[in-house]
Amino acid sequence: YFITLEGPEGAGKTTAAVEIKRELEVLGYDVMLTREPGGIKIAEKIREVILDPSHTEMDSRTEALLYAAARRQHLAEKVRPALEAGRIVLCDRFIDSSLAYQGHARGLGIDEVWSINQFAIESMMPDCTLYFDITPAEGLKRIEQNAGREVNRLDLEGMAFHEKVYEGYQLVQARFAERIQRIDAAQTLDKVIEDSICILTDQFKK
Ligand code: C5P
Ligand code: MG
Repeated sequence: YFITLEGPEGAGKTTAAVEIKRELEVLGYDVMLTREPGGIKIAEKIREVILDPSHTEMDSRTEALLYAAARRQHLAEKVRPALEAGRIVLCDRFIDSSLAYQGHARGLGIDEVWSINQFAIESMMPDCTLYFDITPAEGLKRIEQNAGREVNRLDLEGMAFHEKVYEGYQLVQARFAERIQRIDAAQTLDKVIEDSICILTDQFKK
C-alpha cells in the first residue's frame, strides 16, 4: 500500500509522518517512511543540487526534470521493492508536489509536468494521498518559527509564490479527488494524526 503526504511549506507533513508511522505500527502494520526528493543516496544528491540556495540560475524545466529523476531512482531503488515485499510505504511528498510547484507555481503547466512524470513513474501512483491543507500565511509563520530547518532555494520566494503553490494544490486536489484526502493541517498535531489514521485505516478496508 502506497501512501503519500502532500501540502505546502509548514503544513507539518514531516512531523506528522513520524507519528503516523508509529501509530500504524501499533496497529500491527509494517511501515517504511521515506521522503522526496531524497530517500536514497542518488536522490539526496539531486536534492542538494535542486535546493542549493546559490543555484539561482536554475531553469524551471531543469528543476522539474531533476525532481522527476530523483523520483524515478527513489521509486525503483526503494519504494517499489518495499511495496513488493508487502510493506506500507509512507512517502513525504511525491508527484503532486511537482504538479503544484513546477506545474502550477512555476507555470510549466500541470499537464506537461504530469507527462514528464509518467516517464519516471510508469503508472506507479499512490493508493492514497493525505493532503495537508494550510493557508500560505499560516504555513510560512510555522516555517519562520522552525529555526532548525535547512536553508533552501525556495526561501528566496515571496508570498506570491506560496499563494500559487496553494492554488496549485487546490487544482491538483480537484483533479484527483478520489485519491486525495484532505486533512485540516491547522489543527493540533494530535488531531491531525487522529484524522490521518482514521482515513488510512478506512482506505485499507477498501
Ligand atoms: O518538503 P521538503 O522540505 O523536503 O521540501 C524541500 C523543498 O523543496 C521545499 O521548499 C519544497 O517546497 C520544495 N519542493 C519544490 N518542488 C517539489 C518538491 C519540493 O519546490 N516538487
Ligand atoms: Mg517537510
